[in-house]
Amino acid sequence: GLSKSEEVFEREDKYGCHNYKPVPVALNKGKGVFVWDVEGKRYFDFLSAYSAVNQGHCHPRLVQTMKEQSEVLTLTSRAFFNDVLGQYEEYITKLFKYDKVLPMNSGVEACESAVKLARRWAYDIKGVEENKAKVVFAKDNFWGRSIAAISASNDPDSYTGFGPFVPGFESVEYNNLDALEEAIKDPNTAAFMVEPIQGEAGVVVPDEGYLKGVAELCKKYNVLFITDEVQTGLGRTGKLLCHYHDEVRPDIVVLGKALSGGMYPVSAVLCDNHIMNNIQPGQHGSTYGGNPMAARLAMTALDILITERLSENALEQGERLMTKLRTLPKDVVSTVRGRGLLCAIVINHEFDAWKVCLRLKERGLLAKNTHGDIIRFAPPLTINQAQIDEAADIIISTIQEF
Ligand code: PLP
Repeated sequence: GLSKSEEVFEREDKYGCHNYKPVPVALNKGKGVFVWDVEGKRYFDFLSAYSAVNQGHCHPRLVQTMKEQSEVLTLTSRAFFNDVLGQYEEYITKLFKYDKVLPMNSGVEACESAVKLARRWAYDIKGVEENKAKVVFAKDNFWGRSIAAISASNDPDSYTGFGPFVPGFESVEYNNLDALEEAIKDPNTAAFMVEPIQGEAGVVVPDEGYLKGVAELCKKYNVLFITDEVQTGLGRTGKLLCHYHDEVRPDIVVLGKALSGGMYPVSAVLCDNHIMNNIQPGQHGSTYGGNPMAARLAMTALDILITERLSENALEQGERLMTKLRTLPKDVVSTVRGRGLLCAIVINHEFDAWKVCLRLKERGLLAKNTHGDIIRFAPPLTINQAQIDEAADIIISTIQEF
């Protein structure tokens, strides 16, 4: 007969869309930095659900928040007021120092909302002629799977066979200010949307000063600077927002993933009144966006990051992890890069990153390759020094076996 794990694989294979190729491990429990499979084996989670579980699995305060609010009120829609949304709006805008927030659910929705806000601002404030607005993206960006998101993508796996695509989008090389200037000189440009570190592209860290240069160019040409902090945000890179490393203030900030600490999809767009106030009642929305459960979870999730000093811990443990990974032989691991606990190794081409992930799984650590030769390491930010040391030993000894 089939093992418990094989039963899980078979059922998903038979009844579910094959839009993912998961590492063959069937999980049924999580706590802090660990997850367990249906056979009871424990693993370090070095993906954190693509950085959504920064606060650790099933954080007791998030569980408590969910229990409490679920017994009182979960969803009203925005047809009516609820007594939590305003508290959350005040909390998050004061925390990040923007006038207003637009609450959404998934990361892709929030990114798309930022693009809509930028287009609207271009027409209402900048004075771009109707339907002429251009939004610029960085090559190798990833912001989700909607038609708009894949229209901005240059990854053939993402867009092939899903056209026709959204017009008015353009992309320029990441980490290249000259290319950006060339693109945004066009007076029809509404915005440039960029990840402070490109996550799905393989934890691609731009040169020092890149974001500062982006901010200056956007200001010079009256173009909105949007940071997609869905993956890099909320403590992951050692600051509450990754662009805090660069001392810039983007016009629009997009948040998602860890905004709920893995409990429930919660995303948000932050900006000031001159951008947000162009949207009037009936012009944008979401049934679940800003619901009281999401609002409470987001406040707890943010408070955990601050009170448990998880950004600071991410910086410290990330440095420790990367220092250890840099001891690996260069002919096997050519590069170790990242910031805080968003880091990646590039494996030499003779070695297969997928096979390394399978071997890591056998040894009790879960990670997922992005592309054929890059493995991202992004554990929950609650990880302590002893756990980093144990996990680093697993990674190093596994790779040395190859
Ligand atoms: N933006 C970035 C930078 C991401 O990494 C992701 C997801 O990986 C998204 C947006 C999309 O988020 P979601 O999958 O919640 O729609």
